[in-house]
Amino acid sequence: MADARVGNEEQDTILKMRMDAMLNSSPASFLSLVGALFAVYVYWSPSTAIPLVAWQLVITAVAITNLVSTVLYARKLPARWGARSWARFVCVMHLISGLAWGIGGAWMLTFANENQAVLTLSIGMAAVTVSIPSVVYLKAYNLFQLPIFWIYALGLALSTLQFKWLIATGFFLMGAFAIIIGRGLGDQLSNALQLSLENKRLAERLKERGAELEAANRQLEIESHTDPLTGVANRRRLMSFARAVRGRCAILVIDIDHFKSYNDSFGHVEGDICLVAVAGALERSIRPGVDLLARLGGEEFAVVLDDVSAEEAEAIAERIRVNVEALKSARRGRIKREVTVSIGLAIRGADENGSLAALMEQADAAVYRAKSDGRNRVCVGDLSANRNVA
Ligand code: GH3
Ligand code: MG
Ligand code: MG
Repeated sequence: MADARVGNEEQDTILKMRMDAMLNSSPASFLSLVGALFAVYVYWSPSTAIPLVAWQLVITAVAITNLVSTVLYARKLPARWGARSWARFVCVMHLISGLAWGIGGAWMLTFANENQAVLTLSIGMAAVTVSIPSVVYLKAYNLFQLPIFWIYALGLALSTLQFKWLIATGFFLMGAFAIIIGRGLGDQLSNALQLSLENKRLAERLKERGAELEAANRQLEIESHTDPLTGVANRRRLMSFARAVRGRCAILVIDIDHFKSYNDSFGHVEGDICLVAVAGALERSIRPGVDLLARLGGEEFAVVLDDVSAEEAEAIAERIRVNVEALKSARRGRIKREVTVSIGLAIRGADENGSLAALMEQADAAVYRAKSDGRNRVCVGDLSANRNVA
């Protein structure tokens, strides 16, 4: 069932491609006006004037209709007409045009002299030649070509021309050949259209896949640098950020106090909620777009402060401590009881070039001291001055 639908859709798309080709080439039917004028001129006499004018009007009406239909098709009008409606219209127009040329030419041949006949047959042959591109839609091609060849053959048979049977038979056979050649060409064109359609679909699929891969890559890139619970950066991101920081900076290691007891009292899920709330408080305490907050793991966070003085770094660390402490009373993040953090701070001055690892070690040692000094405080891990600022 689904296959049948896909098959139908594909047929419609190919039919549309055929119509694109057909309706783009239809202005060529204006050439027929020139041919018809030649014929009218050559056959003009008082007794043939009325039928010739009527015939010229029909040929002109067909040419104008073709031109108008090309403009409408390009503007997608009428709005409800799909490829199938246009295909029917094109068939009708080709049949009318084929009959107009076939009947008109055949009627002229019935009373033509040799010279007039040469012109009529030449115009007929020119018409079938000009219409060869319409082989892209075989049905319409046949509806135009066959009336011309076969009604000409009839007209020739009724004429008074020398060798009329020979020429009539020739035209009849040419009609049959037109069918055979048209079918061969039509098959090849069908294959070409099918291939170009598949190419187009493949290119679209490749483009879609490319966009999907790009989005997946972007997501992976984000995930590889993000802590899934709190949404802040992870240790990997912290390291690459800290490595890129030149000159003076500070690292804070922040550890939640007595977090095991929090978990034991309220459960792991509440513990997770508390971690998210603390991460939020930390995020609000640092300079957006300048500093980086990361979760190192468990209940331990770190912040890298870029280009700060010791005083600024201590002020930010203290702000962090106070903001976490205030979480419960500020009713932010739905935490169950007051939580506090111990913070170890390590500072690198503008003219120092201590390694990142050494800085982290200092901050770790400072946290350790903050814990042993009673928690809920900031300790500065400076080898020369082990200070306690809160
Ligand atoms: P201290 O004040 O000395 O830091 O004590 P503490 O209890 O915070 O430290 P400890 O290292 O003994 O316990 C850390 C606890 O953090 C243990 C573990 O249950 C909890 N924890 C670690 N990772 C997670 C997590 O992802 N979610 C939750 N809910 N708890 C975690
Ligand atoms: Mg810890
Ligand atoms: Mg802890």
